[in-house]
Amino acid sequence: MDTKQIKNKLLAQRAELLRRVAAIKADFAQGKPADFSEQTTESENDDVLRSLRLEAETEIRQINRALEQIDAGEYGTCERCGDAIPAGRLEAIPEATLCTRCA
Ligand SMILES: [Zn+2]
Repeated sequence: MDTKQIKNKLLAQRAELLRRVAAIKADFAQGKPADFSEQTTESENDDVLRSLRLEAETEIRQINRALEQIDAGEYGTCERCGDAIPAGRLEAIPEATLCTRCA
């Protein structure tokens, strides 16, 4: 497995996620519209944005861990049991740090 390629992929993925989080933050910073009729929709929208942001931040943390593993030469090893993570799983989820059993 070419870890350099994986690293580049993870870095690109992280950059995209950071961009998304920044866009969501900017959306929040714009504040609420004065039109009260739109308030319900707005707060539902806020919930969606909040969960999208949480999701992105969780994924960023996951990617950071995988990047640390690459730098430590431990990429592809399960953090919990120390077993090798199957190549197919890493291909599907390059930021995976747990094997199929421990995930
Ligand atoms: Zn495991």
